[in-house]
Amino acid sequence: MNSFTYERAEASTRATRSASVHGTKFLAGGTNLVDLMKYGVESPSALVDINHLDLSQVIQSPDGGVSIGALVRNSDLADHALIKTNYPLLSQALLSGASPQLRNMATTGGNLLQRTRCYYFTDVTFPACNKRMPGSGCAAIKGYNRIHAILGQTDKGPASGESCIATHPSDMCVAMAALGAKVEVEGPKGKRSIAFADFHKLPGTTPHIETALRPGELITSVTLPPPRFAKNAFYLKVRDRNSYAFALISVAAGLEMDGGNIKSAGLALGGVALKPWRKPEAEQALSGKPASPETFRQAAGILLAGAKGYEHNAFKIEMAKQGVVRALTLASQGTTEGVQS
Ligand code: SF4
Repeated sequence: MNSFTYERAEASTRATRSASVHGTKFLAGGTNLVDLMKYGVESPSALVDINHLDLSQVIQSPDGGVSIGALVRNSDLADHALIKTNYPLLSQALLSGASPQLRNMATTGGNLLQRTRCYYFTDVTFPACNKRMPGSGCAAIKGYNRIHAILGQTDKGPASGESCIATHPSDMCVAMAALGAKVEVEGPKGKRSIAFADFHKLPGTTPHIETALRPGELITSVTLPPPRFAKNAFYLKVRDRNSYAFALISVAAGLEMDGGNIKSAGLALGGVALKPWRKPEAEQALSGKPASPETFRQAAGILLAGAKGYEHNAFKIEMAKQGVVRALTLASQGTTEGVQS
C-alpha cells in the first residue's frame, strides 16, 4: 500500500477544500475504499476522514419526503421507523446488501460511490482494464463476464464498441433510483442538487469517470420525495448465494395503486449496467393500466430494450425480464417483505 496523509475533518467546508487537491479521497465507512487500497487499485495521496461531520440524521422534510444524511449507516437506515414505514423498498434493498457487519459500517454516501466488483478491475495483475488504466482495453468483454452488464455499455447502441461492461454493485442505489431520489452535494463552489438518474455515469469512452461529482465535492445527503409506494413495494434480488453476494439481477418495484389499477410506478434494475437502470417510458407504460401480467411484461420489454449479452451472461436478459414481472406482481399484491441476508 502507498503511503498517504490522514486528516480528520471537523467541518464540511474544510473537508471539501482539502479534498479538492488531486489524489485526495474522503474516508467514511471505508468498506470499499480500504479494500481497494490494500489491493493496489486505489492509491490516494491523502485521506480526509469525514466521520465526525454532522451528517448522520434522517429528517422528515416539510413536503413529507425525507433527507438522509450521507453518514447514516446502512443498518441504521434500513431499521429507521420512517424508512420502514414510508419507504419499505429502500429498507428491503439495504437489507439484501452485503452482510450485517458491513452494513453496520457502510454509509449512505459511501454506498453511492461503491466501485464495480469486476474481477479484472479489482485484480491488478490483469493488465487490461480501461476503468483502472484508461486505454488499456477491457479483459471482461472476451473473458469471464458472468456478472457483467447487459445494458448501457455504449452510448451509441449495442452495435458500437464497448470500453467497459462492468456493473454498479449497489442495492441501495437501485431502490433510490426507483424512488426518484436526489443527491445533495457541497463543494468548493457551493451546494447543488443532482437528480439520481444523472449521478452515476455510463462508461461511454471514459469508464474511469463514474459520477457527476466535481473535484472536492462531498455528498451531504440524499433526499427522497414524499412516499408513493409505502403499501406496494418489492425489492427482488437474484444472486448466486443467499447472503453476502452481489446481484446477478435485481429489481426495485414500487406501485401506487388505485384499486386494481396502477396510478403511478417506480421501477429500476440493478446488476445490469454501470448505474441503476431506469427508463421513464417503462414507468409510464404501467400508469393507468390494470395490474396484470400483460402490463408487467410490456414494462419489462421496454426496460430491457436493446439489451446485449456476452458469452457468460446472456441469461441475464430473460432473467431480468422475468424478475421485473415477478417484482411488480409481488408489489401489486402488497407484499412488502423482500429478501434479507
Ligand atoms: Fe475494466 Fe470495465 Fe472491462 Fe471490468 S468491464 S475489465 S472494469 S474496463
